[in-house]
Amino acid sequence: MHDTIIIGGGLAGLTAALELTKRNISWMLLEATDRLGGRVATDEVEGFLLDRGFQILLSAYPEAAQILDYGELNLRPFHAGARVWLGDRFTTVSNPLEHPQHLLSTALSPVGTFTDKFAILTLRSMLERSTLDDIFERRERTTHEYLREFGFSERMMQRFFTPFLGGVFLDSKLDTSSRMFEFVFKMFASGKATLPAAGMARIPRQLAMKLNPDNIRLSAAVASLQEEHREGGDKAVTVRLAEGQPLRAKAVLLATDWQAAAHLISTMPQPRPTLTTPKSRSTTCLYFAAPKAPLAEPLLVLNGTGRGLVNNVCVPSNLAPLYAPEGQALLSVSIVGSSKADDETLIEAVRKEMQAWFGAETQQWRHLRTYRIENALPDQTPPALTPSERPVRLSENIWVAGDHRATASIQGAMVSGRHAAEQIAQALA
Ligand SMILES: Cc1cc2nc3c(=O)[nH]c(=O)nc-3n(C[C@H](O)[C@H](O)[C@H](O)COP(=O)(O)OP(=O)(O)OC[C@H]3O[C@@H](n4cnc5c(N)ncnc54)[C@H](O)[C@@H]3O)c2cc1C
Repeated sequence: MHDTIIIGGGLAGLTAALELTKRNISWMLLEATDRLGGRVATDEVEGFLLDRGFQILLSAYPEAAQILDYGELNLRPFHAGARVWLGDRFTTVSNPLEHPQHLLSTALSPVGTFTDKFAILTLRSMLERSTLDDIFERRERTTHEYLREFGFSERMMQRFFTPFLGGVFLDSKLDTSSRMFEFVFKMFASGKATLPAAGMARIPRQLAMKLNPDNIRLSAAVASLQEEHREGGDKAVTVRLAEGQPLRAKAVLLATDWQAAAHLISTMPQPRPTLTTPKSRSTTCLYFAAPKAPLAEPLLVLNGTGRGLVNNVCVPSNLAPLYAPEGQALLSVSIVGSSKADDETLIEAVRKEMQAWFGAETQQWRHLRTYRIENALPDQTPPALTPSERPVRLSENIWVAGDHRATASIQGAMVSGRHAAEQIAQALA
């Protein structure tokens, strides 16, 4: 019998395995698919590196900075700023989160006002003085309410915050918790938005390289769980795979996404623990190959019009050349939410919109792949982010981890995996 079975090989499960290894607790990790990394994945298509949905690593994430070797990942930073599409032209803004003093540079004036500049400076200095614990104790409201209370203009909301944060939260109404906003703002303000030089999948790969491969089983989908009393009074959990022999452990960590975790709990005989799970936020990401990048800089391009399908565009190969074969550029086009249109209709609609933004050169763009990701992030509409209301221990022998227990982010998944492993180690001591 193992000390611990970890179900799920995403960032939460991998971080938990690292922590248990450090604490000399034996573990077995069961992953349903044929690869580790969960939602952080990169596909190689015709020499292009396609992350499954546009994702970035914020270098200031404390857990990631602690655990990952950023040098080995060769992190490539975005420029601090964004280009905003205003419907008839672009304007380039200094990222007010990184360079608030430049907020009202001439180029930015169509995006924000003097009041916005003042509000950004106040917000930034308040968050610089706040710890992450402070943030998660403050009153929770939606990000939209929070920004309005802070005095930001509607223009700044529409042209900058909605597309910028909408792309991060996958929420174009900014209903997401103000705690998540403060957390993300603090991370953007104190570090860089980056891509690993060879794709986002390098992140879980680096974690996996530190683990004993003999303890990892791929293509091992868990079908059901059962908590049992054993002779001598101790309890154990029996984990049944879709195929093969049942496995037993003193502790089980559910490090799957929220829907799979809830499903596995529902397979347990009564009385069983309860797990409240959020709704899902979705996104659609289209990749195109182009003979030439439509912009030269490693900048995020935002839709500041409040209309249209596309929320944000970027050229990953501008910052990380390995994302495209030499002489070509990779374009990543993101839509917040899911689209009901079939692939061809969607590609045509996106092409038309991109033609308005970037002109006739878009006719030479070649569609590579579309990713429709239904369960991209857990919804974090308030009340969402009160750690005490999201226990990690569900029963005597069952723990849960993942981004749905913390912030919906790489940081959240990793920190939640470590916390759960720490608790398991304490319980087994
Ligand atoms: C499109 C997109 C964009 C994002 N952008 C960002 C970003 O820019 N910055 C950021 O910080 N975060 C971003 N995120 C969020 C971040 O990727 C996730 O928060 C994080 O990867 C979640 O990790 P996890 O381990 O909690 O869950 P997952 O990655 O979902 O891992 C769960 C694992 O459990 C496995 N599993 C499920 N059921 C079973 C079963 N029955 N048996 C065995 N295994 C099972 C799954 O196959 C999966 O491997 C984004 C996510 C997406 C999808």
